[in-house]
Amino acid sequence: MNYTEIMVRYGELSTKGKNRRSFIRQLADNVKGALAAYPNLKIDAQRDRMHILLNGEDSQPVIARLQKVFGIQNFSPSLRVEKNLAAIKAGIAEIMAYAYTGNETFKINAKRSDHDFELTSNELNQTLGSYVFSLYPDIKVQMKMPDINLRVEIRLDGVYLSYETIKGAGGLPVGTSGKGMLMLSGGIDSPVAGYLAMKRGVEIEAVHFASPPYTSEQALQKAKDLTEKLTPYVGNIQFIEVPFTEIQEEIKNNVPQGYWMTLTRRMMLRLTDAIREARNGLVIINGESLGQVASQTLQSMVAINEVTPTPIIRPVVTMDKLEIIEIAQAIDTFELAIQPFEDCCTIFAPPQPKTRPNLDKVHHYEKALDIDGMIARALSGLKIEEITPNATEKKEAEFADLL
Ligand code: ATP
Ligand code: MG
Repeated sequence: MNYTEIMVRYGELSTKGKNRRSFIRQLADNVKGALAAYPNLKIDAQRDRMHILLNGEDSQPVIARLQKVFGIQNFSPSLRVEKNLAAIKAGIAEIMAYAYTGNETFKINAKRSDHDFELTSNELNQTLGSYVFSLYPDIKVQMKMPDINLRVEIRLDGVYLSYETIKGAGGLPVGTSGKGMLMLSGGIDSPVAGYLAMKRGVEIEAVHFASPPYTSEQALQKAKDLTEKLTPYVGNIQFIEVPFTEIQEEIKNNVPQGYWMTLTRRMMLRLTDAIREARNGLVIINGESLGQVASQTLQSMVAINEVTPTPIIRPVVTMDKLEIIEIAQAIDTFELAIQPFEDCCTIFAPPQPKTRPNLDKVHHYEKALDIDGMIARALSGLKIEEITPNATEKKEAEFADLL
């Protein structure tokens, strides 16, 4: 089917009153980013709808990318025709030839926002319905839930014909809620947390703690690959690698093992918060899920969270593991996440971490450490890389070239 455009209906943003303009502008930017591979497209964001003019581009790959953009309720690939009955009929014939295979029921659903058009909505329904019968005498009309709901919209700028309504990703346009730092490990939970935060409009940057040589190059690459899986929702994501070896060694050598985990997490949080401040983020996002492991009891969260007043968003905190896995599968991060490359926490995991750490002891053990010095050294060794969609594919292509 040679569609001429995709008509996009906005999601929740239509209820946002005053912010509406900036929401639409952000959504238009995000759509442009998601469709950057198709320079022929023209994106026209109006107050009530967005029109993506295809200019000869195939609609299928455009639709696939559009389905990942937050802030879109649904969209309809459409055929735009001239504003006269003959052109409308020709367009309807084209769509029906594509959509009708012999069994489907149909209905014409005409709407007229241009009241100067020669026929009313009712007259259009009747005239165009009869026209379809003249093409397919055996076809059946069904008013409620027809298989083919053929919309005819007579607007000021033209007539739009469509019959498919494709569900969008919902949520809010990424960027409309400000920026947060996602603590991204190589596990199942944190990519899901990042996805859910983006769905509510938060722009994310990924912060990853690596402890070479204890953690491998593959573990680092896995974290980058997981980040890449999140890029189709936004375009690009900054990946910030934090050198964490010295801190982990210091904790291991100076602190009783029951407190390694708590002190390690406090250091991670202090560092993430410093990075957030330097990069103008508003909040921190992590993949903590209540009760999953020792660091994720409420007592642990209190002890870890003590180091900063910055809000920490924990999108998966009350979800069961299976619920988190379901989302991880839907966003295609699950298979990657379960690859067995150990991260810094697994390698330095104490045999018996405290599930109810005592804050006085925490403070006492931290006195033995050069906290400020370690933080300064880690911050001076940050490595920042922009992760873009399909980086892996590109890398594989380069590798193939070398062979
Ligand atoms: P995940 O599946 O996200 O790894 P998890 O169930 O393994 O989570 P923990 O290992 O206790 O849980 O980590 C809790 C959270 O701390 C993670 O979800 C992540 O947000 C953060 N975190 C843990 N390790 C790292 C790391 N190496 N780099 C960045 N953030 C981390
Ligand atoms: Mg983990």
